[in-house]
Amino acid sequence: MSSFSSNNTAALAVIAILAYMYFAKRQSSSQTSGSVFKTSLIKEEFLPFELIDIVNHTEDIATYRFKLESETHKLGLPIGQHITIQYTYKNPESGEESEIIRHYTPVSLDLETSGYFDLLIKKYPKGKMSQLFRDIKVGDHIKVRGPKGFYNYEKLLPKKKNLFMVCGGTGLTPMAQIIRGVYLNSKHNPLLDGISNFDETKITLIYGNQKEEDILLKKELDELVAKMDGQLSVYYILDQAPKDVSWVSKVGYADKELLETAGLKATSEDDNETQVLLCGPQGLVSGMKRMLTSDFNFPRVKPITKMEDKVFVF
Ligand SMILES: Cc1cc2nc3c(=O)[nH]c(=O)nc-3n(C[C@H](O)[C@H](O)[C@H](O)COP(=O)(O)OP(=O)(O)OC[C@H]3O[C@@H](n4cnc5c(N)ncnc54)[C@H](O)[C@@H]3O)c2cc1C
Repeated sequence: MSSFSSNNTAALAVIAILAYMYFAKRQSSSQTSGSVFKTSLIKEEFLPFELIDIVNHTEDIATYRFKLESETHKLGLPIGQHITIQYTYKNPESGEESEIIRHYTPVSLDLETSGYFDLLIKKYPKGKMSQLFRDIKVGDHIKVRGPKGFYNYEKLLPKKKNLFMVCGGTGLTPMAQIIRGVYLNSKHNPLLDGISNFDETKITLIYGNQKEEDILLKKELDELVAKMDGQLSVYYILDQAPKDVSWVSKVGYADKELLETAGLKATSEDDNETQVLLCGPQGLVSGMKRMLTSDFNFPRVKPITKMEDKVFVF
């Protein structure tokens, strides 16, 4: 189907080396993982990256793989941050052109991949950047700059013990990156056998979608739930009930009862170990912000959140 699966064996060997290097470095210094490798991103300058592969998941969801400068280069993106893509959008009716930018969180991690990065993209029929991803072909280039964002999981590592994530649709992508990062540094990663001082952060993910087919990375999430033995729990919520509802936690919206079932407790001033992360459609994010304040005692969530806040919105 694509080069993704054929790369698995080589990728495993690379993971082993990188995971050890990364972990050893985490123990000895506070540098980010990108600093010992050549990285590709520049914060203030859009650079071209070539598309080398596309894997279609559904009609409107696909993974796009972009090449880095060399096979040993890393993107240079801390876990929890995103990139910005620039595109010259052409209005299909008027033909008028305009420069637009949008943000994306790669689903590949510098921790385990070199030479490329992957974007998991949902295309919208009238979306402006979606036009780029509908038309792009292998060999074409996109313009990217970064890293961007106020969240950097590696810097937060020792401080938060519980991450409670609520997301919808493509809002999964920053959560998926953090979950994978925690797994790679947890005792459940067989490549870290014999090492102590694991990442023991407990993660709860509440993930909402309209219908079953819209769920991104379900297989990968379910595999991690099985591997992480209680350190990761996932609650799927859907607007439309599938035939088999046994694996769905709720049909409808996330409500107080579901959050309580998933283990969220009312916070107190001295509880600094739990952090709620939100990402997704505006309705979901604003509804959650209100509920956290009214039902779980969280302070009112500011329009722009910072890494250390009890509630962080991507
Ligand atoms: C930090 C961050 C990370 C992101 N990471 C990813 C990612 O990894 N993958 C990804 O696909 N997207 C991601 N997004 C969303 C992305 O930035 C764009 O908003 C999205 O691709 C739509 O852009 P567009 O120009 O095609 O649509 P626009 O032209 O901006 O919107 C056109 C229409 O599309 C619909 N639409 C747009 N976005 C959404 C949405 N999120 N939910 C429901 N309807 C919508 C609306 O009806 C809207 O009117 C991320 C956003 C942020 C802020």
